Amino acid sequence: MASRGGFAKRTVDDLKVEGRRVLVRVDFNVPLRQGRVADDTRLRAHLWTIETLLDRRARVILASHLGRPRGRVVDEFRLDPVAQRLADLLGVEVLKTDDCLGPEPAQALSRLDQDQVLLLENLRFHPGEEQNDPEFARALAALADCYVNDAFGAAHRAHASVVAITRYLPSAAGPLMATELRALGRLLDEVERPFVAVLGGAKVSDKVGVLRSLVRRVDRLILGGGMANTFLAAEGFALSASLVEPDAFDAAREVAELARAAGTELIVPVDLVVAESAEPPGPRRTVGPADVPPGWRALDVGPRTLELIGRALADARTVFWNGPVGRFEVRPFDAGTVAVARMLARLQGRAFTVVGGGDSVAALQQAGLAGAVSHVSTGGGAALEFLEGRELPGVACLPDRDAGAEGVWAGGRT
Ligand code: ADP
Ligand code: MG
Repeated sequence: MASRGGFAKRTVDDLKVEGRRVLVRVDFNVPLRQGRVADDTRLRAHLWTIETLLDRRARVILASHLGRPRGRVVDEFRLDPVAQRLADLLGVEVLKTDDCLGPEPAQALSRLDQDQVLLLENLRFHPGEEQNDPEFARALAALADCYVNDAFGAAHRAHASVVAITRYLPSAAGPLMATELRALGRLLDEVERPFVAVLGGAKVSDKVGVLRSLVRRVDRLILGGGMANTFLAAEGFALSASLVEPDAFDAAREVAELARAAGTELIVPVDLVVAESAEPPGPRRTVGPADVPPGWRALDVGPRTLELIGRALADARTVFWNGPVGRFEVRPFDAGTVAVARMLARLQGRAFTVVGGGDSVAALQQAGLAGAVSHVSTGGGAALEFLEGRELPGVACLPDRDAGAEGVWAGGRT
């Protein structure tokens, strides 16, 4: 297999897009609140791609999913708020259709001006999208002359607009996709040591795969948050009302065993900030893992743990962080997570630092430090699967660069 770090896929630079209709799979799966885009990080992540294509005089057709409408038209998952916000961000007109297939997109395309882009309605309104249905893919492909996949966040899904479509159009990876794969690839291939991972978040069960993979690759593995609670409980600590996953005790013990076998230093909390409740935040105490009072819950890591984390990160040359180390949505239980964000920021210029995961990125932004790390990944689940060492279906199906400028592709375009 080609080296993951030495990115070997054909990119949009290798594709003739001038004057052609380019279907760009984007990840506009953004949170909406009261009919508006609540967080436009994912829209901004694609701006450069769209602007570059417009500069090259491509006719840009954007396609995305949003939420889980499960193959039916669900009005709350329409992309109209996305179209509006995108138009503001791009400063160009965004034509939006009410269906991604049928006569409307074709008509809109025939009217599309040079300084406009077309946004298709939510792909998941059609069951064929999630079924990777070749007929659905072929119908989408008929709208365009070539295909660019810029949706790293959807690359772990074998869906029609991600995988099947590449059989019908000359295809390439978009700039955001390429950036993500290069940055995350560096964590697997060309890693400078010490390599330190900080893994937190709610559950071990969500992240067993990435734990198993990283524990063998890193020099130090730091655990925090609900995830660490489960590790501590698996070792026999009684954590009272804390978020703990008994079903994941075996997985936690297995990871601890892998760490011992690989000589990886495993760092778990030695003190915890506990309270009777998070909402509303009740009185707090800092205690050792053996001293969580009955009915109380661990909601953040304590100061001695932060000291250990600080020491483990101080000389790191490569860092991956996923998962907040506490219930960061509620003050003051964000303190540990904010402190970790600052520790990463302090490594700027000295280490290659990558942050991935919806909540981790939100915490980083909340701390105003998104600009202080080397790479902020927009692909939560996809990033974790990639770091498990698995090949993502949406990447595997893209042609290699040495397949030639446009190479050959199976099937026709008709
Ligand atoms: P990410 O989205 O970055 O991958 P996760 O979704 O795995 O992260 O986990 C984030 C969630 O974990 C947050 O909602 C946070 O409040 C919660 N969490 C972290 N630590 C704790 C804890 N000790 N108790 C309860 N919830 C926690
Ligand atoms: Mg999350």
